[in-house]
Amino acid sequence: MARYTGPVCRLCRTEQTKLCLKGERCKSDKCPINKKRAAPGKDPKGRTGKRSEYGLQLREKQKIKRMYGVQEKQFHLTFEHALRMPGVTGENLIRLLESRLDNIVYRMHIGSCRNQARQIVLHRHVMVNGRIVNIPSFQVKPGDVIEVKERSKKLAVIQDSLKEVSKSGTAPWITLDEDAVKGTFVQYPRREEVTDLADVKEQLVVELYSK
Ligand code: SF4
Repeated sequence: MARYTGPVCRLCRTEQTKLCLKGERCKSDKCPINKKRAAPGKDPKGRTGKRSEYGLQLREKQKIKRMYGVQEKQFHLTFEHALRMPGVTGENLIRLLESRLDNIVYRMHIGSCRNQARQIVLHRHVMVNGRIVNIPSFQVKPGDVIEVKERSKKLAVIQDSLKEVSKSGTAPWITLDEDAVKGTFVQYPRREEVTDLADVKEQLVVELYSK
């Protein structure tokens, strides 16, 4: 399935939630969700009625998938991986999505959003344990060291994103040496630590795929 290349704010409007796909703009007053813009389509009000159980499950799956920028097939494969892991499947799913290389690059503020982090990885600016990895879905393991290669550290796009570290810090499961643009994925996050996903109900995805 082809990657979505349309306007990303439309995806947030469809879900009526902030998926944070545009970096700085997401925190500004320009964000259509902050402006309370309606869902896209000819009759957005027609969609605001009570949703079926299936509808709720489907929307939650789409929301998580779009938030992490993962295609349907890969999302389903990630879910199957989560299912085989010991523990709670929904939490495993979030853990696997959180340990994707593009997501960790985003969490380290090397990219201002996951889309940008994905581009930075694809363009071979990122190394894991001293080796260039250009696979956004690469699964980072606890203890892995992620860094931007020397020549890329001064890139404006990376330096601009890093300014966010002083404003919001980094995730508790990642350590970052801002000057060296280098960090360690210390451990898999506990579900409650992923605070920006507080409203996400991953259990609905488990129910959807269990049908
Ligand atoms: Fe657009 Fe970001 Fe707002 Fe989503 S959160 S609507 S991507 S500006």
